[in-house]
Amino acid sequence: MTKEDEIGAQEFYDKYEPKEILGRGVSSVVRRCIDKRTSQEYAVKIIDITPSDKMTPQEIEEIREATVKEIDILKKVCGQDNIIQLKDCYESKAFFFLVFDLMKRGELFDYLTEKVTLSEKETRKIMRALLEVVQFLHSQNIVHRDLKPENILLDDHMNIKLTDFGFAVQVQPGQKLKEVCGTPGYLAPEIIECSMDAGHAGYGTAVDIWSSGVIMYTLLAGSPPFWHRKQMQMLRMILAGTYDFSSPEWDDRSDTVKDLISRMLVVDSKKRFTVADALNHSFFSQYVVDEVRQFSPYRRFKVICMTVLATMRIYCNYRRAKPVTKEVIKSDPYAVKPIRKLIDACAFKIYGHWVKKGQTQNRAALFENTPKAILLSIAGEADEPMHHIW
Ligand code: ADP
Ligand code: MG
Repeated sequence: MTKEDEIGAQEFYDKYEPKEILGRGVSSVVRRCIDKRTSQEYAVKIIDITPSDKMTPQEIEEIREATVKEIDILKKVCGQDNIIQLKDCYESKAFFFLVFDLMKRGELFDYLTEKVTLSEKETRKIMRALLEVVQFLHSQNIVHRDLKPENILLDDHMNIKLTDFGFAVQVQPGQKLKEVCGTPGYLAPEIIECSMDAGHAGYGTAVDIWSSGVIMYTLLAGSPPFWHRKQMQMLRMILAGTYDFSSPEWDDRSDTVKDLISRMLVVDSKKRFTVADALNHSFFSQYVVDEVRQFSPYRRFKVICMTVLATMRIYCNYRRAKPVTKEVIKSDPYAVKPIRKLIDACAFKIYGHWVKKGQTQNRAALFENTPKAILLSIAGEADEPMHHIW
């Protein structure tokens, strides 16, 4: 390789000092790096296009073209609040270096893994920001095509930053896409249909609404709506739109939030909510009223009455609530909410990914003292975490 081939890489290494790995993709690695002059921290996505035995020259050329497109889109979306900022980029014959603002809190995926499930309030904040970003992208005719919690990063104030525009594409108004790309569990049915039928009419921006619906369900339930150990089965579930709100996590969730999810996860893309429909849904408006409180004497009186009523209701429920006894904990620990959360969190720590619950699987069995129960539980688990890219 000649010196000219290395110019871009040299410029990067002159300016930045690369540090530890923050994340990895199929052909990229993301590292923390430091600007040598200012000592400011950044994240650099290093895309390797070195000729090697592992990749054919054609594959390398495809990665190069895809990266040029990714940079082009990142420049177009620059300046949006909830989108990652591309600060700098360098290209050499063997590598691309994309320098971004560093998101120290990492992925929404890891935050969810730590918290198990999120409240409706927190989900509302994240989903509003995500859908506003999607609205902006769709207004520019940009389809992201890989929305998932691993590609949503969190800044120091827990605001989301959408990243990974590797599959993003800008279309002509009304233009349909046919390329099959994305991450299996988040794929819209029409993308899967395109992979099965060469004569399919194609898909458009609605695929981002489907994956936003999958994300929203996942944040509230702690596990994805479409999941099966066997990938073919999972794709069948997506095509048929088979999911439910039957797990215990949904018991305390409002009908409003379930309604919104069920309007985003509509198999027929023409009947699916658009991003504007989703943002106008009452799930996003119900708490705005609270934020602009007018404390007129009438309102004050109403608030006092409601507080008294709520206190009485809490007191009555408290008296009616069954005490948690040793027997209850012994016979069915999974039925007690705080213990359920603890068990789930421990299961996450052990497996490092979601543990799917099914008819024959019982996470509580992991904590029972019979080796048989533990073995049975483990035998029913997933083989592999499902977050690889096609
Ligand atoms: P890929 O296209 O290979 O999936 P991404 O752009 O999604 O690459 O980056 C891979 C991972 O690297 C992300 O999921 C995240 O964990 C980490 N990462 C990427 N950008 C940043 C950033 N700006 N700050 C912190 N971590 C990041
Ligand atoms: Mg990614």
